[in-house]
Amino acid sequence: MRIILLGPPGCGKGTQAKMIVDKFGIPQISTGEILRGAVKDATPMGLEAKKFMDGGLLVPDEVVVGIVKERIQKKDCQNGFILDGFPRTLPQADALKKVLSSLGLPLDYVISLEVDQKALIERLSGRRTCRDCGRGFHVAFDPPRCAGKCDVCGGELYQRDDDRESTIEERLNVYGRQTAPLIDYYRKEGLLVTLDGMEDIPSVWGNIQQVLAGCMG
Ligand code: ADP
Ligand code: ADP
Ligand code: ZN
Repeated sequence: MRIILLGPPGCGKGTQAKMIVDKFGIPQISTGEILRGAVKDATPMGLEAKKFMDGGLLVPDEVVVGIVKERIQKKDCQNGFILDGFPRTLPQADALKKVLSSLGLPLDYVISLEVDQKALIERLSGRRTCRDCGRGFHVAFDPPRCAGKCDVCGGELYQRDDDRESTIEERLNVYGRQTAPLIDYYRKEGLLVTLDGMEDIPSVWGNIQQVLAGCMG
């Protein structure tokens, strides 16, 4: 099962990806999480990426394409993977297409989650993220059992720097300019499945499982 979760920041990609991981045992490849890990470790790539991430801008294509190329060739991707937050530009989508076709690994679906702007702002500004495992929560829509603590690993929950109002707006603009064109791109490829991301978390999950049932055969 090889799928892409596509949609604006805050649409629910990470939340749904973690549920797919738990149910199907295939890894989630989140370029955002990988980059945040590099920033935390202060690697050269992390230091370079941080400048873009703090401003809500995209990290250069070469950097993220390099990360994904390496990651999808690891052993745990043999039975499939979920791309979350990649690709985000047309050149990234073209690069992905090339590498997957050279490896003989076609995509099954690109699942696009549609959520309106107002809800995205609410979701992003209330998001809290686990420092240790990257799981996302929401102060109102998906609160942790114990305030400030991750349900899964007990790690500390924090508010990402880029989840503050000033940066959220720029990220949504960047999505509209650079990432939204991928919806048409994948529609033309015949891979696009569009789901209503405005529903609550369990309902979206139910709909995703129905789609995935189609690539289990
Ligand atoms: P993305 O990875 O697409 O940026 P997340 O999965 O991190 O989005 O979700 C953004 C925020 O919205 C998180 O705080 C999450 O708990 C919350 N959220 C996710 N899906 C829903 C939903 N269907 N309804 C309400 N809130 C949601
Ligand atoms: P969100 O959950 O809000 O969609 P991510 O965690 O996916 O955010 O990404 C956080 C930041 O990391 C982005 O704003 C961008 O700076 C960088 N980033 C992540 N994925 C990519 C990508 N595929 N291309 C370029 N930049 C990326
Ligand atoms: Zn955790």
